[in-house]
Order: sequence, then structure tokens, then C-alpha cells
Amino acid sequence: MSLIKVWAHEPVKRDLMTCLALGKLPNSLLFSGPDELGMKKMALFLAQALNCLKRQDEACGECSSCRSIFQENFPDVILLASKENKMGIGIDEIREIRQLAFMRPMVGRHRIFIFEEAEKMSLEALNALLKILEEPPSYTYFILITTNADSLPATIRSRCQSFNFKAIDLETITARLISLGYEPIRARTVACLAQGSLEKALSLDWEKILSKRHQAWQAFRLFLKEDSTFLTKLLASSRGAEFKSDLEEMVNFFITFFRDLLLLKEKGPETLLINPDLKEEMQIMVHQLSQEFLLKGIELGQQILGGLDRNLNPRLLWLYFYAQMRSRDHA
Ligand SMILES: [Zn+2]
Repeated sequence: MSLIKVWAHEPVKRDLMTCLALGKLPNSLLFSGPDELGMKKMALFLAQALNCLKRQDEACGECSSCRSIFQENFPDVILLASKENKMGIGIDEIREIRQLAFMRPMVGRHRIFIFEEAEKMSLEALNALLKILEEPPSYTYFILITTNADSLPATIRSRCQSFNFKAIDLETITARLISLGYEPIRARTVACLAQGSLEKALSLDWEKILSKRHQAWQAFRLFLKEDSTFLTKLLASSRGAEFKSDLEEMVNFFITFFRDLLLLKEKGPETLLINPDLKEEMQIMVHQLSQEFLLKGIELGQQILGGLDRNLNPRLLWLYFYAQMRSRDHA
């Protein structure tokens, strides 16, 4: 697949293609936005365009270079992910990168370093990267990917050309998934959980989603009954980084439950239900819930997701959500 066929993120794609066509692509680039997987895919397409054997300003997607870059095994395209290295990308790695950056590419025309989750790099490592970001050799490119550009030092941001990837809206992702053959209900649920990323939507496992949604629904019912057992269970069973992702998933599901309940309360079109299979149960409980309470649930849920994005303490966020929701009579 070539750059022109990348789906979504049109403004960024257009800018990158213009730079390529004019031969004026900056050597240090910063990709930021919520769609981590989408940004990584765009970085790989760009690496293909810079090394394609058939074309100079685009990727054919078919030559051996393009294929090998897509499979992430091309020697001159180096992916650095903090995820696989618990210490993050440290100062030692940056020293090696600096040396490598000044050597000619081994097989391609250009060497590209792609830093995933750049915001997780240590300050020491980022400072060591500064100099090379400022004046890289013409054959070397750096692409920093981050979901939180604000947490990168201004010195790093100012040395890179920024490209902002906006979240893709829910309806657009749903429509795209349906066009790819997803059942409408599945498409809508997956799109809700994908947080503005088609790539994330495509990577989600439907069976797992169903099982997690079932757990979230049980928790939600207890939550409405003001039974705090699920709260203590959740706090006790999850640890560290896991807790953050568990909480993110659960709050996402809670938001879909609040939305569906609000839709039923306001007698909106049932075709818009995200969890239509829970309709009967919801119809029984909706009489006991006020519109105000449901709206508050959605709003607070979104606040919690925003807080998680900004790396606030997940446990505190969850306790805050719980306390705020209980502070009002919802009958
Ligand atoms: Zn090619």
C-alpha cells in the first residue's frame, strides 16, 4: 500500500506528500495525536516512500524495500519502542543512534529512526538527541511519535517539524468498519473503544471485547446499586500499568452504558444503541435514573479518560469518579 492509499489523516498526508514531491521533507519530524497506531503506520509509509526502489516521491508498496519496511525488517528503518524496553530509550541507545545516524544507510537511500512513545524517553536521553535532531545528515530522518507532545521539552519540539494527527470521529470509524465487512453493532462498539484510531479499532479482538464488556456491565450494575464490592475488587486485583488500561477500558464501557440509557430515557432511535443486546435490562433500570445523572456519568467518564491521557494517577481518578457519582441522588 502506498502513502496515497493511507486511510484518514488527510491533512497530514497531504502535507507529507507535498514535502516529498518538492524534495523538502524535514529530517526531524514530530507526529502527535491520540492515534498512536495510525501515526506509526504513517511513519512506516513515509519510510517506504524514502526508500522505494521504483519511485522517488511515493511508495509503490510492492518492491522488496517497501515490503520489507512494512514487515518491519528493513535494516535502515529502525523502530525504537519504549514498550519493549522497560527502562525506556536510554542514553546508551541514543549514543549508538548518534553514531549510526552519521553512517551511510546499509541498503536503502535513507536511514529512518522511528521513536514510538517519545514522551517516555528520559530527559537525559532527549537532551542527548537534541544535537543530532538539529543537524542530521541529509540521508537520515528522525520521526518522533507521541500521544502527549506537551510532555516533551520545548527544545525537542522546536527542532522538529510538527504534524498533528487528529482523532478520527466515531461515525467515520464506524462507517469504515462497516465498509470493511463488520456487522453494524460490532462496528459501533469497536469504534467506541478505539478512541479515534482506525488502526486500534482493527486490532481489537471481538471475543475479548465481549467478555470485558460483560465484566464491565456487572460492575456497572453494582455501581448503580451503590454496592462498592466491585470498586474494592478492581483496586485490589489490578496493578500499576495494568490498572490504567483496565480502568480506561471500563470507563469507556461505562460511557457507552450511560449513553444507551440516556438514549432510552429520551426515547431516541434504538438503532443508535451501542449495546442493543442489553436493551431489555436497561429499560428496566432507566426509570430509576435521572437524565441529569446519566449526563453527569458521560461527562465525568470523559474527564477520567482525559486525566488518564495526561498521566494522572488512575486510582485517584477512579475514586474521584466514584465519589462524584455518588454525591448526587440519582433516583
Ligand atoms: Zn516500493
